[in-house]
Amino acid sequence: MDTDTITAISTPVGEGAIAIVRLSGPEAIAITSQIFEGKNLQEAPSHTIQYGKIIDPSTNEVAEEVMVSVMRAPKTFTREDVVEINCHGGMVAVNRVLEIILAKGVRLAEPGEFTKRAFLHGRIDLSQAEAVMDLIRAKTDKAMSVALKQMDGRLSKLIQKLRQELLETVAHVEVNIDYPEYDDVEEMSHAMMKEKSKEVRDELDKLLQIAQQGKILREGLSTAIIGRPNVGKSSLMNTLVQENKAIVTEIPGTTRDIIEEYVNVRGVPLRLVDTAGIRETEDIVERIGVDRSRQVLKESDLILFVLNYNEPLSEDDMKLFEAVDGLEYIVIINKTDLQQQLDLDKVREFAKERPVVTTALLEEQGVDELEKAIADTFFTGDIDTGDMTYVSNVRHIQLLKQAKQALEDAMEGIELGMPMDIVQIDVTRSWEFMGEIIGDTASDSLIDQLFSQFCLGK
Ligand code: GDP
Repeated sequence: MDTDTITAISTPVGEGAIAIVRLSGPEAIAITSQIFEGKNLQEAPSHTIQYGKIIDPSTNEVAEEVMVSVMRAPKTFTREDVVEINCHGGMVAVNRVLEIILAKGVRLAEPGEFTKRAFLHGRIDLSQAEAVMDLIRAKTDKAMSVALKQMDGRLSKLIQKLRQELLETVAHVEVNIDYPEYDDVEEMSHAMMKEKSKEVRDELDKLLQIAQQGKILREGLSTAIIGRPNVGKSSLMNTLVQENKAIVTEIPGTTRDIIEEYVNVRGVPLRLVDTAGIRETEDIVERIGVDRSRQVLKESDLILFVLNYNEPLSEDDMKLFEAVDGLEYIVIINKTDLQQQLDLDKVREFAKERPVVTTALLEEQGVDELEKAIADTFFTGDIDTGDMTYVSNVRHIQLLKQAKQALEDAMEGIELGMPMDIVQIDVTRSWEFMGEIIGDTASDSLIDQLFSQFCLGK
């Protein structure tokens, strides 16, 4: 293999009990052994860990006390020789070890380069490599298990199966045309191709439908809290954030105003839009006539619609009911500690099948029920996180759409009675789009761009 040797710190920047400097490439073991005081690493058996010291050759001083893992190709992550130097002295010491290695002529790895090598050497396919990236970014346990499944190759296996089926059909049809046993061979070929195209198209469609779910798992269910002023929207937001460890993310490039709060409600990731969102909803009643406000609601995956227990339904409430009609929402009747004025039967009637939960947020009452309703809304129906193959990646979704479109073009061609070799062009295109998902037909520049999104050292 004509690759060079690369290195990077593979653990997060910051304080930690240990930090790891990783090397991969043909010189990994030889170079480490030049700066290592301890057993001869060149003779160390593969997949063993050795205690010793890293010596700075420029001063001959001990730079760090380390444990060094030696892993020889090909049974390694990159399928090259890999060395991992476990340091324990904090960031300064780790950086010193890295500098010593760099001074030995080892190149600093580009972001994602270790995983890229794993891909280039055929250890993982592209969708698995992307899953590694998702895993690093996963915000909830669910998102993590989806990424793990993808890494395990579930999507790849399904795509491979579909491609294989298309290929076999194309081959079969070609044989039929070359060696016609029957007079109506063209007709038969058309029927066969049409059936298979439809079958694969439907499979792709299924994948696309659940893709939305995958996106939600990765990015969180975008959740809007609406209701008239003073019903308890901010209280609800605060309660959800306090009860469920929130990850506060400031989105770079936006104003300080927009802070997204991720909360994990019984395994369901919610993305609550703070301040701006809440303020916007303050006057949502007046603005509900404006198309944009409706659009905002439509784009939410879930709406938490808060009503006052101690007030009768107002005209504004009715407008909000209209605005959320047909969308996924939960009605929260808040302030049950106060005198009842609201007609609950009427609310249930307006809410149709949607869940209605009562709370007294001030007294932290009903929060469990609300959380259960959120989880139920998410997990009932077709959504089963058990053994589905999720497509959680924009690039994959795009390619699936293109693959599906190509098959539909083929079906249309058959319908119009086009010659088989024209139809086959579309089928082959679909096959190629699917190939791009797993990296079979992906271009070099695409691969470079994908891996550059990885964090350093991965
Ligand atoms: P928002 O305008 O919809 O965001 O409502 P807030 O969350 O700011 O709440 C308005 C007022 O209602 C505040 O004074 C809260 O303390 C109060 N409040 C919220 N929840 C309850 C509740 O369950 N019971 C009572 N009595 N007051 C509540």
